[in-house]
Amino acid sequence: MAMNSQGRPSRPVHGVDPGAYPDTFSGSRGLDQAEPLLFERGELNNTGVDLPELKGTPSRLGTFERDANMGMPGLSEPEAMRHYVRLSRKNYAIDLGLYPLGSCTMKHNPRLNEKMARLPGFIDVHPLQPESTVQGALEVMGELAHWLITLTNTKAVALSPKAGAHGELCGMLAIRAALDAKGQTHRRRVLVPESAHGTNPATAAQCGFICDEIPADDTGRVDLAALEAKLGDDVAGIMLTNPNTCGLFERDIIKIADLIHKSGGYFYCDGANFNAIMGRVRPGDLGIDAMHINLHKTFSTPHGGGGPGAGPTVFSEALAPFAPVPYVIQEGETWRLVEQEADAEGEPFGRMVAFHGQMGMFTRALTYMLSHGSDGLRQAAEDAVLNANYILARLKSVMTPAFDGTCMHEALFDDRFLKDTGVTTLDFAKAMIDEGYHPMTMYFPLVVHGAMLIEPTETESKSGLDRFCDTLIGLAEAAKGGDKDRFLAAPIHAPTKRLDETRAARTPVLRWTPEAAE
Ligand SMILES: *Cc1c(COP(=O)(O)O)cnc(C)c1O
Repeated sequence: MAMNSQGRPSRPVHGVDPGAYPDTFSGSRGLDQAEPLLFERGELNNTGVDLPELKGTPSRLGTFERDANMGMPGLSEPEAMRHYVRLSRKNYAIDLGLYPLGSCTMKHNPRLNEKMARLPGFIDVHPLQPESTVQGALEVMGELAHWLITLTNTKAVALSPKAGAHGELCGMLAIRAALDAKGQTHRRRVLVPESAHGTNPATAAQCGFICDEIPADDTGRVDLAALEAKLGDDVAGIMLTNPNTCGLFERDIIKIADLIHKSGGYFYCDGANFNAIMGRVRPGDLGIDAMHINLHKTFSTPHGGGGPGAGPTVFSEALAPFAPVPYVIQEGETWRLVEQEADAEGEPFGRMVAFHGQMGMFTRALTYMLSHGSDGLRQAAEDAVLNANYILARLKSVMTPAFDGTCMHEALFDDRFLKDTGVTTLDFAKAMIDEGYHPMTMYFPLVVHGAMLIEPTETESKSGLDRFCDTLIGLAEAAKGGDKDRFLAAPIHAPTKRLDETRAARTPVLRWTPEAAE
């Protein structure tokens, strides 16, 4: 059988079971076109530009003159453009539909945010401009800092970290600097609940700490007795998420903060789930010392194709002196950036980034805050929790909730409802793709077997949630009814079918190599 580079038949195939090969010759379906790599589509001898041959000018490149084709894909402008537009159409996005990834808070990004961020006075500024010419931009940063500090009841904020994980690094470096300043260099053990997001232990290790895992109790929360048993004078602190990654509020959080503080450690709170409590609870009142806030989660800025995240980190009174530069201050009517450690009031541990952070995201996040107001932000948190509980209530008779009772902003199920069906969490998620739904977060948190973590956020309507729940109920009933094939073959309607995920992870092909270089 003649195959193209993607393993699809390139000519009609006769006398073969129609199920054994994709159902079109081209690999395209409807008007959704198959897309080879740019290198496969291009021809080495073509070029998108025509430059005249140089006449009468001797080359001055000497031995550096290229003697072989450099191997760039040769495509015209429309061919190159179409390649990327076709790829973009295969991308799933919050602008296309519900994105129920738990822990990720994939909420609608209001268009008002985009409009404000594109104002020439914001979009055209450069980080090296004199301060006097960017007073408005600095005021945006100052105002955003004020909102973040007020919402969390903390003392200082570093706006510069560029992701939640980067914010964790910022917070833990401040903790390390505070311990070092007290001469407590022996405090190097960090307590991390076993339900924690993987970035928490990774951050602690990156800062030179040793991680010590605290087990969860059978209600999905930190086991307080186990935590107490682990305290000691080598403990630097705890990294705790609240609401936690099981979608539950840590009821004993004030007790946990007291225990950590009494034993001489600091409390790092992973604030990725702040959307569930913003405007309702101030983490500073719960005793936290540092917490990052994912602007791309809670404050509706785009997650952005792996791009422009922002993870400002707030600090308690105890850690504020160690917060990094730069930060903005207001002197009378004038805004100023404190850029140098020597000019700072406390003892900053250094800086996180070359410049000042993601200015475009600061503008979007502040737009969100100002358009909602403090009451609107609280309402968003309440609606997020209400939506998650609606899903939990509708699905709990056919799927199996991991824990009893109500949840916060995300509903967590385990795979007990799939027992003896031959269908796994992964198969179930793949079948959702065929139904037009991006899967929920799977197999996380690790403390729950075959976990399915669903976070609808506040921006979904009741009818949208009902369509989603009806689909999941249909799938759960199909699995229990023995319709295993529907799941094992899924996704059958996606451009790419079931992948060999183990091979993709173990032997990734990250580089295109030409078959025969000229
Ligand atoms: C998203 C998330 C992080 C990491 O944030 P990034 O912005 O993706 O780096 C950390 N902890 C939890 C619980 C999260 O959900």
